[in-house]
Amino acid sequence: MSKVLTGLRWRPQLPAATALAAFAAVLLLVNPAAAIVPQAAAPVTAPADLGRLADERASVVEVILADNAELDALVATGVDLDHHITHTGDGIVVHAVVTGNEVTTLTRAGFTFGKVLHTPQDAAQRVAEREATIAAHLAENREYAAAADFSARSTVSDVRIIRADYYTSGDTQVLSVEAKWAQGQADASPLTVERDSGPGTEIGSGGTQTISRFVDAGVYLYHRGAAQVSSRPAYVRITSPSGDVAVAKVNEWLPIPPKDPEGPGYMKDFVASYLTPTELYDRIKALSAQYPKISEIVELPYRTNGYRRKAQAVLGTVDASRVAVDSLAWGHQGGNDISVELADPGTADAPLAVTVTGTAVRVDLATDGSGTVTSTAEQVVAALNAQAGTLLTAYTYRGSPGTGVVAPVARTALSDGLAAPASVSRDPHPVYAIRIGKHRDGSRLGVLAYAQEHAREWVPPLVTIETAERLLRNYAHDRKTRDLVDNLDIWIAPSINPDGGHYSFYDFNSQRKNMTNHCAPQAPADFLGRNSWGVDNNRNYTEYSLFDGYAGASTSCTSGTYAGPGELSEPENRNVDWLASRPNIRFSMNLHSSGNYFMWSPGSYALPGRVSAPRPTLAEESLFWGASSRILTAIKRHRNLAVTPARTGPIADVLYSAAGNSGDMLWYKYGIYAWNFEVGTSFQPDWQEAHAETMEFANGLTEMLRVARDFDTDRKRPRSSLSVRASATPGMVDVTFSTSEPAAVFYTLDRSRPTYASTLYGSAGIREGGETLTIPVGTTVHWFSVDAAGNVERNYKPDGRGSNHNKQKVKAPKR
Ligand SMILES: [Zn+2]
Repeated sequence: MSKVLTGLRWRPQLPAATALAAFAAVLLLVNPAAAIVPQAAAPVTAPADLGRLADERASVVEVILADNAELDALVATGVDLDHHITHTGDGIVVHAVVTGNEVTTLTRAGFTFGKVLHTPQDAAQRVAEREATIAAHLAENREYAAAADFSARSTVSDVRIIRADYYTSGDTQVLSVEAKWAQGQADASPLTVERDSGPGTEIGSGGTQTISRFVDAGVYLYHRGAAQVSSRPAYVRITSPSGDVAVAKVNEWLPIPPKDPEGPGYMKDFVASYLTPTELYDRIKALSAQYPKISEIVELPYRTNGYRRKAQAVLGTVDASRVAVDSLAWGHQGGNDISVELADPGTADAPLAVTVTGTAVRVDLATDGSGTVTSTAEQVVAALNAQAGTLLTAYTYRGSPGTGVVAPVARTALSDGLAAPASVSRDPHPVYAIRIGKHRDGSRLGVLAYAQEHAREWVPPLVTIETAERLLRNYAHDRKTRDLVDNLDIWIAPSINPDGGHYSFYDFNSQRKNMTNHCAPQAPADFLGRNSWGVDNNRNYTEYSLFDGYAGASTSCTSGTYAGPGELSEPENRNVDWLASRPNIRFSMNLHSSGNYFMWSPGSYALPGRVSAPRPTLAEESLFWGASSRILTAIKRHRNLAVTPARTGPIADVLYSAAGNSGDMLWYKYGIYAWNFEVGTSFQPDWQEAHAETMEFANGLTEMLRVARDFDTDRKRPRSSLSVRASATPGMVDVTFSTSEPAAVFYTLDRSRPTYASTLYGSAGIREGGETLTIPVGTTVHWFSVDAAGNVERNYKPDGRGSNHNKQKVKAPKR
């Protein structure tokens, strides 16, 4: 590769005409030849060499002159001399551009010729070289244009298109585009995406759409946006504000394969209504009773704190004079029988007195000489605690000093505020899972699905029930179902948070958390604060939690994302931890609603700076994406609902930080491929919608089982290759690895044998493909790939001594 070419590579924007002019300039140096001849021409000895001069075609030949008089004589002949005149110790050497006939004539005239420096053959060679070089350069320019225009790998443009996905959802056609702009951190400008209207059409003919910055926690991630389109574009183009251009091919997201994976006679649609946690557990118990050979019910080790509360009341309306009371007994165990009355005695100068008759507590308030009540809240609280302390506790309202004079209050029953029928247990609740599989001894690959960490999310539990029922009821006649049940160990826990779930059904539909009250009296722990108590079960886990300094969880006992007093403080969370610690579990799905998201780790980051929990490796990420497309395609099959690309990916990238979530615990602590569904469009949609969501996400959950099964039976070794491209740096090349399936690549550049301790090929960045390595030309790369199931390319033994790994000495790219 010539220096000229390398130089041009530094300036890829150099117009072709300028480049050609540069080559022309080099050629002009042939005459005069001095500039290129000294290192190019082999020394030849006069006069023998003169014989090769062509009679009528000019060559460059040295003329040896004794002195300036001879030079003057030579000039006087009219011969073509260049400006090269060298005075040597013996005389003067000049270069003459002469034909063979002229040399003969001049020799006869007494002139002495020296070396032949450049002949017509030499010129012909240069011309050929020039043409080859120009051709190579034009090819390179085309390649540059291609790199800048059609690849996400361009090192030229300051804008790069990460994804361009076309999909249909229902009757709607959508184009979703994600791009990274080098100025995206500093500059809030949106980017405009131009699209064509199909193969072979003009860019721009399909219209434009704007994508805007996705900035989270002050950190620019990328630009993204989706727009409705009227046809499927083939290419999109973004011109950045600085004028740089990126073009990308549009991919189809989740194309529906023509063939249904379920065989004839496959049964589904087993849910007919929302189910409370009690009903969910009854359902899996009934199923297991019907299919005892392939399922069992497992009671998880920790009971909840129970759908129960102390009976309470807040008496009065003005904060400083309010009195709050809580029963000592649980509401259902006598607390609800207690009543309190704050009475005006109707006499002057009455003392403050408390009378307890059974469970009826009467407070006669003190009066002054005119019969006006004078007892303050603080005084009433003290009297109640002193005289009725075996039944209740009293306290001033939310930390008030209680200096206000209380107003009389008619007899008020204390209440736990729980409206569920008696069929809903008030005791600490067992939490159940159904374990499905022919071999439930831990010998088979384990898969876990769990729902209703968040109480108000009513559809996700139905997805688990529908999935369980499909497995059990199709087992006898559907070969593919039998393959799953015979070979997997499937744990399905339909409701992790039954207390909150019951509360959501019967008392407060928007309940998210569990029912445990960790609030101090002033926090508030009183009756009026009861709907905001509880721990967010999806923030109480052990990895990258609030307690580790990560964002997206709260220390406030009334916050929707209250992390609890400590990691795994809640029995619900200890149950999930126990499930995840089953050693054979490798895949899991945490089902939530809503939003139609499909996500994985990392799920949290620390502030400031948005430092996320460690990202999966490139290989893991590609496994996540690969499985995603299968699972989301299965979902789409039901009614063409597309979980969008913008809602697929790591939680921290597509949603927000959720410190201490369960997916992160399963992934980081247990190494489980842990996914999260956000099912549907709302927490409690109308039944028609809830039913459809259940069917489509049961498709997805069943597909996850197939992903797990395929993983388990994967004996196929990955293949990998190295691709080499021109580098922007002289003497270097850009290399990337690609693999035939999601697989990790370990490599060395120092000719050593690659092992698992060698460098792991990484990702180029968030939501991007593999990184580009820039290495010196001539480097020998040694590498191997290994898939997630542990299959190593070519059966190479990284810990052994063989050398049957890949090796390649990288050369500058051929033209
Ligand atoms: Zn949720």
